[in-house]
Order: sequence, then C-alpha cells, then structure tokens
Amino acid sequence: MFEYAPAPESRDIVDIKASYGLFIDGEFVDADSSFKTVDPASEEVLAEIAEADATDVDRAVTAARKAYESVWSQLPATERAKYLFRIARIIQERSRELAVLESIDNGKPIRESRDVDIPLVAAHFFYYAGWADKLEFAVRDPRPIGVAAQVIPWNFPLLMLAWKIAPALACGNTVVLKPAETTPLTALAFAEICRQADLPPGVVNIVTGAGETGRALVEHEGVDKVAFTGSTDVGRQIARSVAGTAKRLTLELGGKAANVIFDDAPVDQAVEGIVNGIFFNQGHVCCAGSRLLVQESIAEELLDRLKTRMATLRVGDPLDKNTDIGAINSAAQLEKIRTLSAAGEEEGATRWSPPCELPDRGFWFAPTIFTGVAQSHRIAREEIFGPVLSVLTFRTPQEAVEKANNTPYGLSAGVWTEKGSRILWMAERLRAGVVWANTFNKFDPASPFGGYKESGFGREGGRHGLEAYLR
Ligand code: NAP
Ligand code: MG
Repeated sequence: MFEYAPAPESRDIVDIKASYGLFIDGEFVDADSSFKTVDPASEEVLAEIAEADATDVDRAVTAARKAYESVWSQLPATERAKYLFRIARIIQERSRELAVLESIDNGKPIRESRDVDIPLVAAHFFYYAGWADKLEFAVRDPRPIGVAAQVIPWNFPLLMLAWKIAPALACGNTVVLKPAETTPLTALAFAEICRQADLPPGVVNIVTGAGETGRALVEHEGVDKVAFTGSTDVGRQIARSVAGTAKRLTLELGGKAANVIFDDAPVDQAVEGIVNGIFFNQGHVCCAGSRLLVQESIAEELLDRLKTRMATLRVGDPLDKNTDIGAINSAAQLEKIRTLSAAGEEEGATRWSPPCELPDRGFWFAPTIFTGVAQSHRIAREEIFGPVLSVLTFRTPQEAVEKANNTPYGLSAGVWTEKGSRILWMAERLRAGVVWANTFNKFDPASPFGGYKESGFGREGGRHGLEAYLR
C-alpha cells in the first residue's frame, strides 16, 4: 500500500471579492439587502451577494427591453455571432479560473468542473454562435421573442447559464437571468466576461437572490419568455403564474432515470456507467441514473463488482484532483438526502456504503446503494438528488420497460446490452427524452435535451433548442 498524497488545485487563480452587486445594464449595482454564499466543503463564507427585490428586477427587465429594441434585435446576425464567439473564447481563456470558482462555490470535484462543466460551457457558446446567422435554416422567417426571464438551479451553475443564455442571444433576444442562491459566483464572473467582450449593456442582466427574486422575475409583466430549470414543484407554480399570459414557457424539471442492465451487458463497462450515472456531481443531476434496473440472473455478480468499485471512490476536498465525490451543495440538500435515505431504511430496503472517512466540516454524504427496493418505496419514486442509488431487478425486457416507465418523470434512461436490436427496441418504448446506450451522462451542444411528463417540456441544445427562443 502507499500513502495517499493530496493533489489540490491552487485557489490563487480566483479573486473572490468581499461583496458583489447585481449586473444591470452593463454595470454592477448595489441592492438594499444581501445574502451570503458559502463553500459547502468548508462552510466558509465566500462573499456577500446582493439580493434583488421586485424594484431591482424591474430595472433589469427595463434594461433588457431597451437593449432588445435599440440594439440587439437590430444588429446583423453576423455581428451577434461575433459577440458570442468572443464570449466563448474568453471562457476558454479563463477556464481554469472558472473551474476553480465553480468547485469552490458548488462543491463539485475539480476533475468534473475542469473536464466537463467548463468545456461544455464554451462548446455551447461556440455552437450557438455558429447558428446566429443561419437561423433561416432552422425555422422559416426566424424572429426573436424579446426579453427572456431565465431561472436556473445550483447543480451545474455555469453550464445551466450557458444552456439558457447562448441560444437566447443567438436568436436575438436579451435576457435577465437569476442564478441559484447557493451558487451565484460563476454567473457574476460571467457578467464580467460580458463586459470584457464589450457586449452592449442590457443584453445580459444577472439578478442574484433566492426564490422570491425568481418569482418577481417570472411574474414580471415585461418579459416575453420564461425559461426555468429546477424542481417540478417550483415548475408547477411557474406554469400556473404564466398561464393566461402571452409569455412563452419552457420547463426543464426533475427526473428519476432508470439505468437498465441486461445480462449480456459488458459488466465492467456497465459498472463504470452505473458509477458515472449516479455519483457524477454527487448525484445532483436531473438525469442521474438513480434507479438501477438489473436483470435478475446477473444481479449478484454485478452488485459485487459495483461494491468493489464504490470502495475505491474518493470523497473529499473538491479541489483535490483525485476527488471523485465532492461536497453536497448545501445543508438543506444534505438534509433532504438524509431524510429520504432514512425513509428507504424504514420501508425495508437494505442500505450499504463503503467504509469512507468524511471531513468534519462541510456537507458530505457517502456513496450509498439500496438493495431490496420495491417500486412503491419513496427512494424508488422520489428524486433524491444525491449520491444514492436504488437497485431493482427484472426478468424480461418487457418487465424492464414497465418498471423503467413506472415514474411520473421522463427525462433520461440508460440501456446496457450487447444487442443493437434490443437497444432500439428499448429506446422505442422508454418514455424518456434522452436514452443512452452503453454509456450515461453524455452531453453535446448539438444534441437536444429535455423531458416528458413531469420532467417538463421544451428542449435545450441542438437545432431544437433554437425553437424556444424564436417566434
Ligand atoms: P428549485 O428549488 O426549483 O430552484 C431552481 C431555481 O428556481 C433556483 O434559482 C431557485 O432559487 C428558483 N426558485 C425557487 N422558488 C421559485 C419561485 N417560486 N419562482 C421562481 N423561481 C424560484 O430547484 P433546486 O432544488 O435548486 O434544483 C434541483 C432541481 O432542478 C432538481 O429537481 C433537478 O432535477 C432539476 N434540474 C433539472 C434539469 C433539467 O434540465 N431538466 C437540470 C438541472 C436540474 P433559489 O434556489 O435561489 O432559492
Ligand atoms: Mg455556494
């Protein structure tokens, strides 16, 4: 055996200010109240963040309207594209800084923010920059909608921002975006990037705050389009408040994906896919493979290998380059994960985690699996949004489909089998927006993403993602 030597990424590259204002009309402005954002790995307060109230939101929407009418919708599309390309390049240039900042504010491992989040953020801006002057190949007579109100969650803070802002701007809209309360820092770094790129003032506005700020934004009469990513509960409230108005709406909500493993699947690869499916980003992933459906004949062998693999996962400092599982994003989220896991035990499922030392400070949860799970259990039905996997078994493909679809959600699914014909057979029957075959959690800006049923409606990414921002 060897001694473990940590390999932490340096924090020196980021310069976190003591306090941040709102980004309205190209300037950072103060607000009457503020809140703190913390590093979930240490509970250290990182900065004081301005909290936008309804008056601030109104100023942001007014700035976005003015920028829409006087500048952005008037620019030739090739000019809009130049700004987006410039933003994409600045993101690449500042990628190490953005990755470190994201890991500090969110708790995700640097390996993921560096190799997944930030490269995808840049890729998204490049992709939609390319569309800006080619919109007539996507829809007939493309025209922007106007001012977009965008509200995003904390699990992929900068990536969700990119998914929202890049297509909106490419299509000629202006935006007011509210990041999540616990992860505002990369959105504020993005505001600086907008200035660095000389983006005309008011085209992008960032209003930080909590749920109330989000509500004021989506309910504002001056917005033409609402784009929300977050929980199904809040999505429902927003759908109600937007109903009966002329606002356009897209909702990207929760999920409870099945990851289906057939007996002819390559077992080692499947184990990697299961680990990636549920432990990537601490399981704070809307499309996480949180329900493992394994064919009965290989269940024992597969679970043995999965446990062996889980015992090698390293939980701890998000900035350590060896870390596989970082911090849970907030005390509130940790509490939710604990409550649902306790419910799993009470309902009779068997809980297992590898031996694993957790740091004293900060919010942590060991990778966990539940076996002996019934479809009626809460851990099989509700989104846990943490590193917790529920294991169910099936005998026939038909049973796999029925169990996989037995959920109010329909965002994603995984199928592991050697047979191409079976992949197609499954993909046709699974009610999920994305079906991955022999892989999981693969993203590309060219590929549309979105759900069925209570996972929401509308698609982000790809040519389909443009439709949400065009009349
Ligand atoms: P959430 O509570 O719904 O929050 C999402 C955003 O909405 C946050 O910015 C939140 O503000 C804001 N918000 C809260 N109440 C609001 C209201 N009444 N009106 C307007 N905005 C309001 O969700 P979360 O727990 O942070 O995020 C996890 C959820 O997002 C999971 O269910 C996950 O599946 C889903 N998700 C879906 C996708 C997808 O593409 N389908 C992607 C990622 C995440 P504060 O948090 O600042 O209070
Ligand atoms: Mg934070």
